[in-house]
Amino acid sequence: MAKGLEGWHALLNRQLQRLELGSESPPDLSGWQAFIDRVSRAYEEADEDRYLMERSQAQASEEMASLNEALRQERDLLETRVAERTEALRLSEARLASLVSLSSDWVWEQDTNGRLTYLSEGAMVAGGMPVSSLLGRRAQELDGFECDERTVKRYLQALADRQPFRDIVHGVRGGDGSPRFCRISGEPVLDAQGVFTGYRGVGSDVTAATLASRQLALLARFDVLTGLPNRAQFIEELDRAVARARRSNGHFSLCFIDLDGFKQINDTHGHAAGDEVLKATAARLRAELRESDFVARLGGDEFVALLPGKASPAGLSLVGDKLLHAIAQPIAFQERELQVHGSIGIALYPDDSTQARHLVEQADAAMYLAKQEGKNQFRFYTGELARTVARQLALELDLRQSFSSGGLELHFQPRVHLGSGAMSGMEALVRWDHPQRGLVPPSEFVALAEERGLILQLGRWVLDTACRQLRRWRDAGLQPPRCAINLSSHQLVSDVLFDDVRNALERYDIEPSALELELTEAMITAQHGRADALLARLQGLGVHMAIDDFGTGTSSLSLIHRVPAQSLKVDRSFVGRLPDDEAMGITRAAIALAHGMGMRAVAEGVESAQQLETLRGLGCDDAQGYFFGRPLPADAFAAHLRR
Ligand code: C2E
Ligand code: MG
Ligand code: MG
Repeated sequence: MAKGLEGWHALLNRQLQRLELGSESPPDLSGWQAFIDRVSRAYEEADEDRYLMERSQAQASEEMASLNEALRQERDLLETRVAERTEALRLSEARLASLVSLSSDWVWEQDTNGRLTYLSEGAMVAGGMPVSSLLGRRAQELDGFECDERTVKRYLQALADRQPFRDIVHGVRGGDGSPRFCRISGEPVLDAQGVFTGYRGVGSDVTAATLASRQLALLARFDVLTGLPNRAQFIEELDRAVARARRSNGHFSLCFIDLDGFKQINDTHGHAAGDEVLKATAARLRAELRESDFVARLGGDEFVALLPGKASPAGLSLVGDKLLHAIAQPIAFQERELQVHGSIGIALYPDDSTQARHLVEQADAAMYLAKQEGKNQFRFYTGELARTVARQLALELDLRQSFSSGGLELHFQPRVHLGSGAMSGMEALVRWDHPQRGLVPPSEFVALAEERGLILQLGRWVLDTACRQLRRWRDAGLQPPRCAINLSSHQLVSDVLFDDVRNALERYDIEPSALELELTEAMITAQHGRADALLARLQGLGVHMAIDDFGTGTSSLSLIHRVPAQSLKVDRSFVGRLPDDEAMGITRAAIALAHGMGMRAVAEGVESAQQLETLRGLGCDDAQGYFFGRPLPADAFAAHLRR
């Protein structure tokens, strides 16, 4: 059964139609041949089409596969990268966390209003402050918040400007109620879009360091021993008092208080005793004066009091008496009773001066006068005192000038060997030939030179002049004996003395043994072994040494023993009283001591034949005094040398 055109394959139908062959009419042979050719060609075309299609399909799938491979590789790469980054992030977070947990610092975050939104563990743990109680609050709202105004301002300004801030230290109350101090630094945080979201930073507990530095600051303003304000605070307080009084036309009094006999207590009973005296004095001054009065210790045994308000001289005298009385009360120390007195100088604002510096100088000068006039008393600063001070200043000026203008001279006094009566030495004594006042004795200007820092210059001049004089006499054919010169304690602690001595000897070609240096007993006590090395060097050089004014100080034998001296000079205060019993005893002991230590005993200030005989009887080696000769200028002294 034939299907007909509708039922056959479209390809076949198409060929049949092209050949105009219906299904009803069978083709002739040529038509049949053409039909077969067509069908065959159609198959061939179909094959070709399929081939082309298959080829393009294969190509497409190859491309797909390679695309797929590329995508896979891309994905793998991305996955490794993500894994790596995640690991790096995890590591860095872990590192940060361990650092934060290890360190005593903490990390915090604030929102845009400065409120704490995050605090790492450990925040303020030292103070026992629970973290939860801090969240949601601003630093300034924390309990016990304490911070100086300037720092708060700096902090708020940084927040307002969204700038980083560093090292803001503020106090808060810790969980246990104790004050804590933290130091915070922070910087603004921006989100991905660059929008400000608050601050993030670190904090640390700086309580210990802050408390220590406050303690230090306190120490800088207070005297540790007595607990009183110190000199630095006094100077501030005085400036404040002046400013206050200037504003309100007010008055106040300034009292300088210096202890008498404090040094002796230190020297005889030791520093612990001295400390006790200072503490007791501080407490008494504080107790005697009003709450509104300011009391400070300036150092050493110097105290100062600032009394506000207008006071009459009578009223101030009462205060002065009261303080002197309180200071003079005995002080118990290790089953002993110590006693000191005070000297007080008073200057008044604005009567004496309106300048802080002048008031200090005036009170100091008045105090000095109280001391000079017998101690244990007070003095007001007066115009007379001002004149004395002015005189001293003028004197100082004159003294400075005399170094260059040749106003100083040396006088020489012989020292005699008692056995033979021969001159065994001489002492050079400085004199100041003042244009108006005539010859001024050393007692009036050596102390001034010491006080005013002129003594090293004076000492060098004496040394040089004595050596030059020795050289002149020798060049004139005379044979001057060993020459003694007096040293001041300031020279003993200066490092120029040795060179000064050596230079003077070298300059005039004098052998060291022709020179003798006199050190007073008081100097030896005061230097307390500190000059041992210098004395040893001088001894090594070959100069001689003598201990002067022996018997007037309170030196210990061990100190005397350390001085490599060849002579011991018994003070003229004993020699002058011979043959008085007590003076005899002391002189005899001093001579025995000198001999015991291998020194020659020299008596000073011998004025009479009786004294001379007594000294001979006591076995004294040498003597010096008006009896043998007064100190004379070099020219006059040459007569002694010719004899
Ligand atoms: P000094 O070293 O004890 O000197 C002895 C003092 O006693 C001298 O007083 C002398 O003139 C005096 N004198 C001597 N014989 C007698 C006497 O028989 N009777 C009395 N009453 N006095 C006598 P001067 O010259 O006034 O010196 C006083 C002190 O000044 C000296 O005491 C000495 O410590 C010091 N001095 C003198 N010259 C110098 C010097 O160049 N440098 C230093 N640093 N101090 C000096
Ligand atoms: Mg002397
Ligand atoms: Mg003397």
